[in-house]
Amino acid sequence: MKNKETRVCKNKKCQKPLPEDYKHSYCEACRNKRFDKIKDGNKIALSVLGLGIIFKKAKDII
Ligand SMILES: [Zn+2]
Repeated sequence: MKNKETRVCKNKKCQKPLPEDYKHSYCEACRNKRFDKIKDGNKIALSVLGLGIIFKKAKDII
């Protein structure tokens, strides 16, 4: 029974075959990479927010 199409990672550069019961469209490595990017984005958002708070506080002090 090998009629089933093997699912592969959606990353066109990767195309790694995925296990049949795998719930995600990207392989583990690509998912980690994507999460790293999201994490970086959050870090930037947080630092922008942090800067805003610092400026607000500085205004209050001055
Ligand atoms: Zn992949």
